[in-house]
Order: sequence, then structure tokens, then C-alpha cells
Amino acid sequence: MNLDVGNLEAPVFRPPSEWDSLLISVTNGCTHRCTFCSMYRTKKFSIRKDIDEIKSDIRKSAEMFGSRVEKIFFEDGNAFVVNADVLTELTRYSYQQHPKLRKVSAYAHVKDILKKSDDALKQLADAGFTMVYVGIESGCDQVLKDCNKGATQDDYALAAQKCHRAGIDWSGIFLLGLTGNDPEKSRQHAVESAKLINRMAPPQPRKWYISPLTLEMTPGSEILAQNLENKFQPCSSTQILEELYTLIHHTDDDLQGCIFNTNHASNYLSLKGELGRDKKDFLYRIEAGIKDPAVRRPEYMRGL
Ligand code: SF4
Repeated sequence: MNLDVGNLEAPVFRPPSEWDSLLISVTNGCTHRCTFCSMYRTKKFSIRKDIDEIKSDIRKSAEMFGSRVEKIFFEDGNAFVVNADVLTELTRYSYQQHPKLRKVSAYAHVKDILKKSDDALKQLADAGFTMVYVGIESGCDQVLKDCNKGATQDDYALAAQKCHRAGIDWSGIFLLGLTGNDPEKSRQHAVESAKLINRMAPPQPRKWYISPLTLEMTPGSEILAQNLENKFQPCSSTQILEELYTLIHHTDDDLQGCIFNTNHASNYLSLKGELGRDKKDFLYRIEAGIKDPAVRRPEYMRGL
């Protein structure tokens, strides 16, 4: 269960692996409006300008939770938009206040990683900022353009390498089903996403994380509106698994340290392992899922 100091504005989102983190508000809402996402639509984006006020929240959380805090997640949608010096100061202060702290992370839009210099990212990593969660969605430039992501395959490849160099862990999220049920577009999405994964591999061995999710058309999103106007037809569960198969099939066999995880509740199959090492096993299991719908997570158990 998450810890907070009681001033977060609902709705609040965080990566599944941050379920036990202290959530500290640094921004409110998100800087972007991707067509498939309605998470922060009810919030007007803003950055908390008063750093002392955020520090006061961190101090208050230490009084409230004592030494229970081991992980901090900076909210909201794209806290990494904040200036690197400010993030560094907040990260340092977090470690001063929480003696057992071992992880500080945030959602980051790729452009806000690229805007920060290598030195600034290194300074942030040295302060103890541990991980960025990056909604990549696709490696295909056309798909990224269509969903209004504001990024390209090159951006993600460059940003991942910048983070590896700085020592900030890279966690990238892809979105299966984003092209709808057009087989050629779906294949392009998968092949280009695999190409991007290959380009994001760190030059030196270190852990990095890739987690595909599956599209769910949520109220308030443009993609649901497109669907209601018959302009977007979602993939079937079989097509989603075929897309996942193509994606994994096109990744390099010798990828190292890539922790691959489809445990998210939106997915039809739960896979977890190291992509290079477990590739054959993943493909075997997906093939079984394509052949036998009974192996798949039932629709009523899927969710965001
Ligand atoms: S997908 Fe990420 S960047 Fe896009 S609107 Fe949603 S939270 Fe913001």
C-alpha cells in the first residue's frame, strides 16, 4: 500500500512496481495528451514551484512514517519535466530524511530526458535518483505520430543510452494493440518496436526493463472516440498475442540484462524473465496462447 502525506490530487497513478512507495507530489497531471490515455485528463498540468513546500512534504513523511520508507516515487504524469537541479535537490533531501531509502523514481517523457545534459543526469544518479519509467508505446515513428506521443524511435534510443551512461535504470513500457486490427500496421508496430529494443540495449552489462501493456480504450480517450466513430477497430486477443510474438521474435538473440515482464493486468499472458536468455521459452508460450484461448487471461480479469 502506498504512503503519502495526504495532499495528492486524485486520480493518482504510479507503476505497479511502486505499490509500496511513498508518493511525493512534484507535478500535477501530465504534460502530454496521447490519444490512447485518459489518465490525467481531469487535471490541468502544473509544476509545484515552491521547492521548500515539497521538502516540507518529505520532512512530514519522515515524521509520519519513520524508517518505513524505502522507495519514493515522484508524482505525477511526467515529474521528470522538472529541472535536473531541483530533482537532484529533492532526491538528496529524500535520502537525508529517510535513512532506509534505496530507490527514487518517476515517470519521464523522453524529451525531458533528452533536454537534460549527460552531466545533469549523472548528478541526479549520484544523488540516488534510481529509475525512469518511460511510456515508449512503439518503435514505429508513424504509430508514435498517430497517437500524438511527441517522440520518435531515435529519441528513445538516444535517451536510453543517456540513462545507461548516467547510471539511471531504464524501464520502458510498450503498448500492444495500439494500431488496431490492421495486420500490416500491427506487424510494423511490432517489428519497429523490436528494432528499438535492440537499439536501447546498454553497451555494458546492466539491468534494464521492458514491459509491454495491452491497449484498453478508456472513457475520455481519443482512441475510444475513434472507435465509437468506427475509425479504430481494436485487435482481438489472438492478434495481440501475434503482435507480441512478432515483437519478441525480432529482438536480438544476444540481448543481455533485459528484464521482460508482461505481468500487467491488461495483458493476456504473463511472462517474466530475461529477454535474451528466455526468448525461446517466451515464443513457445505465446504460440501456445495463440493456439489455445483457454491459456489466456479472461477478459473479465483484465484491467488497468
Ligand atoms: S501516456 Fe504518458 S505521456 Fe501520454 S498522456 Fe498518458 S501519462 Fe501523459
